[in-house]
Amino acid sequence: MSDISRSMNDFEQAQKLLPGGVNSPVRAFKSVGGTPRFFARAAGAYVWDVDDNRYIDYVGSWGPMILGHTHPDVVKGVQETAALGMSFGAPCELEIDLARLVIDMVPSIEVVRFVNSGSEATMSALRLARGFTGRDKFIKFDGGYHGHADGFLVKAGSGAATFGEPDSAGVPADYAKLTLTAPFNDIEAVKSLFAQNKGEIACIIVEPVPGNTGVMLLHENGFLQQLRDICDAEGALLIFDEVMCGFRVGAGGAQERFGIMPDLTCLGKIIGGGLPVGAYGGRAEIMRKISPDGPVYQAGTLSGNPLAMRAGLETLTRLRAPGFYEELERKTTRLVEGLLAGCKAAGVPAVANQVGAMFTVFFTELDAVTCCSDVSNHCDLAFFGRFFNAMLDEGVYLAPSQYEAAFMSAAHTDADIDDTIAAAKRALKRVTA
Ligand SMILES: *Cc1c(COP(=O)(O)O)cnc(C)c1O
Repeated sequence: MSDISRSMNDFEQAQKLLPGGVNSPVRAFKSVGGTPRFFARAAGAYVWDVDDNRYIDYVGSWGPMILGHTHPDVVKGVQETAALGMSFGAPCELEIDLARLVIDMVPSIEVVRFVNSGSEATMSALRLARGFTGRDKFIKFDGGYHGHADGFLVKAGSGAATFGEPDSAGVPADYAKLTLTAPFNDIEAVKSLFAQNKGEIACIIVEPVPGNTGVMLLHENGFLQQLRDICDAEGALLIFDEVMCGFRVGAGGAQERFGIMPDLTCLGKIIGGGLPVGAYGGRAEIMRKISPDGPVYQAGTLSGNPLAMRAGLETLTRLRAPGFYEELERKTTRLVEGLLAGCKAAGVPAVANQVGAMFTVFFTELDAVTCCSDVSNHCDLAFFGRFFNAMLDEGVYLAPSQYEAAFMSAAHTDADIDDTIAAAKRALKRVTA
């Protein structure tokens, strides 16, 4: 076992000072057990913890580090910009540059507003959809994660579409009632929600590649197109939450990959290249309803600050290199196939969902995992926890939950992938022994 004594000590200190010792819950390793590693530095495909153990990193700060950690051009750009002033609370030219780039890359975006996180993007887009349509209710999917704003912290009861019950203490039940939920891939449930709430539904918000239940496939059976059609028929807006899959499954996100255009798009993660940036954008006619052009209020002291804009700009620019996504996808497919082969050889039943450079391997007897209840009811979460910790010990950092995606970066080499597959074989051997 590797020495993790300093992380253990840090975690003890942190728990006295921070709720759960962390500033975002999944980091606490609650669902997998073990000690969260405290990181000291990172470069390329690797992160090092405070005990100087090296890990091949497939979290990449939950996606943003698509170029790999500490890409020299991104670091240099951020350093240059920092020296000129980190925030003005006034317009700067880098906002124009990044807006131009985002509008150019993401097909459905005509006008964009920058914010500071994915959560801010989704809550603002929801307010805009409500303001634009004059309707209060909206539909989200069971297991769809759209950040931590009140209205999104609602999930469906098992199976059937229901009125939302809040998932978190502190969310008023009266407000959560406006959140309608349906299972992924269940267009009949969506239709019946529209039938029961005629003229009251402002929008559907969906992760077009769900990543927060583990990666799910929604496009294969035409589900996203059906959502587009029903929104058009009912006068509701379609919001793609591409905070995770935007700039990840292709330069233009899921909408470009699948050829389905939402009315509004939420972005985050990669758009800031590791600094706190989110954005929401869409058709000009809708976006012009935002303050100060229109009546829907939304603001931010640090929004569009030059440091964050520069990190985003340096990152997004490099995604447009010819063959960038093809290479990322090739490596991801190679890793997924290697991991599945390793599971098979070890007699461990598993399936994988992959879209572009994001994937999840599920430990399950099912032939396919299509919705979050498949994960809760049919995946071996305890086994995942043991595998996860064995992989850590083998020097591979995966997301600490079966309900998460793994991310490939441009810095991962074929040798890293071979090492990861070999590490997984050893880890599987240990946990099945
Ligand atoms: C991460 C994520 C969010 C929230 O973004 P934060 O920057 O963590 O607030 C929203 N939607 C999706 C799909 C995400 O993956």
